[in-house]
Amino acid sequence: MYDLVVRSRRTVTPDGERPLAVAVRDGRIASLHDHAAPLDAAEDVDLRDLALLPGLVDTHVHVNEPGRTHWEGFATATRAAAAGGVTTIVDMPLNALPPTVSVAALEAKLAAAGGRCHVDVGFWGGAVPGNLKELRPLHDRGVRGFKCFMSPSGVDEFPELGLGEIRQVMTELAGFGGLLVVHAEDPALLTGCAGPGYAAFLDSRPEAAERGAVEQIVRLTRETGARAHILHVSGAGCLDVLEAARAEGLPVTAETCPHYLTLTAEDVPDGDTAYKCCPPIRSAANRDRLWDGLARGVLDCVVTDHSPSTADLKVPDFAAAWGGVSSLQLGLRAVWTEASRRGHGLGDVVRWMSAAPARLAGLRGKGGIEPGNDADLVAFDPDSAEPVDARRLHHKNPVTPYQGRRLRGAVLTTWLRGRPADDVPHGTFLLGA
Ligand SMILES: [Zn+2]
Repeated sequence: MYDLVVRSRRTVTPDGERPLAVAVRDGRIASLHDHAAPLDAAEDVDLRDLALLPGLVDTHVHVNEPGRTHWEGFATATRAAAAGGVTTIVDMPLNALPPTVSVAALEAKLAAAGGRCHVDVGFWGGAVPGNLKELRPLHDRGVRGFKCFMSPSGVDEFPELGLGEIRQVMTELAGFGGLLVVHAEDPALLTGCAGPGYAAFLDSRPEAAERGAVEQIVRLTRETGARAHILHVSGAGCLDVLEAARAEGLPVTAETCPHYLTLTAEDVPDGDTAYKCCPPIRSAANRDRLWDGLARGVLDCVVTDHSPSTADLKVPDFAAAWGGVSSLQLGLRAVWTEASRRGHGLGDVVRWMSAAPARLAGLRGKGGIEPGNDADLVAFDPDSAEPVDARRLHHKNPVTPYQGRRLRGAVLTTWLRGRPADDVPHGTFLLGA
C-alpha cells in the first residue's frame, strides 16, 4: 500500500522521459513502475500527457529574513518557490540582518524561518573580513558552503574580501572539504556608473571584470585545493577560462541564471530597473554563447539569484536602483520557454535546475526521480503559455522584468515529500550531510 502514486507518460528521470508510475511511501519515492501498473495507493493521480518533473533545487535565493522581511520573507519566498515548481531553496547569507556569518546569526535565521517554509531550505554561510574562525563552526552546524564577494556586495554589513583574504578562506575550507561560492567581478575593472541609462550601467560592469575575477579564483583553486563555484556567470568570456580549469581537473563549477539566458541588454526598456542586477544582463550575442556553454556542460547549473527589494528601491535610474532580479516563481517557465525554442528537452532543464544544483549543495535525496529520493515532484504542463502578471506572484514585492512576457509552461501541482507543498507549511531545514 502506497501513500501516493503519480503517473505520467512524460516522467523525467535521469535516464530521460519515460511513461512511468511513481510510487510514494513515507515521503520518499518507493519504486517506479510501468505507467499503467495496478498499484494499491491512498491517492492515485494520472497526469496522462502532462510532464512529471523532480522538484527544482534553487541554490541561489536571497530570502532577507530576519531584518529585511519587507523585501522577502521565508513564508512568501517558499510559497513562490512551490508555485514555481521549486521544492528546495538554499538561502544566501546576505541581505538578512544579521547576515549568516556566525552560528549565532544562523540560529537567528532558523528561528525566523521555523514553521514558515513551504519547501525545504538549506543555507549558505558567509565569508567576510574577520570571520575566518566562524567558518568551521558554521560548517559543523550544517551550512552547505560559504559565499564571498570580490567587489562590494551592495549592503554595508557584508563586505567583500581581498584576494589575500580569499586565499586564507580557501585554505581554511580545504581543511574540511568546504565549498566557496563566489560573486566574481574584479573590483579593479569596475567603474562608476556614469549616468542613469542602461548603457552606462552595462559599461560600468564589463565582461572583463568577470573574466579577470574567474581567472583569479581558478588560480586560488589550483593553489589551495579548495572547491570553488562561480555564481551567476553573465559574461560568456568566462567560459573558456572555466573550460580550461575543468580540463585541468580543478574543482571549479559555475552557474548562470534565467535572466541571462532569456533577457538581453537590447530589450531593457529605458529606466526599467527591474532588469538591474550584478553582473548585468548583456547582449543577445552573449546570451547565445551562454546557451552554448550550458549545452556543452561548461555551465553546470541554472538558478535564479532571486534578489528582491521593495519597489521604492527600484528607482528609474540604473546608477541608483537596487540591483537584483526577482524570479523564484518564474525561473522554470522562463528557462523552458527559451530552452524549448532552442531545441532542448525537459531532461536538460531538469539537469540544469534540479540535479546539478542538488549535487553542488551536497543535497542527498534531492534532484531526481529515483527510488530512495524524497518524493519532491512537479506536475508540469509544458505546452500552455500565458503572460506574466506580477500581481499574481507570491513574491512579496510585485517587481519583475518578466511582467507581461508570455512564458511557456505551467506548474499544476508541487509535492514536497509526497504532500502538496501549498497546504500547511511542512518544509524542513536541510542542515549538514
Ligand atoms: Zn545573489
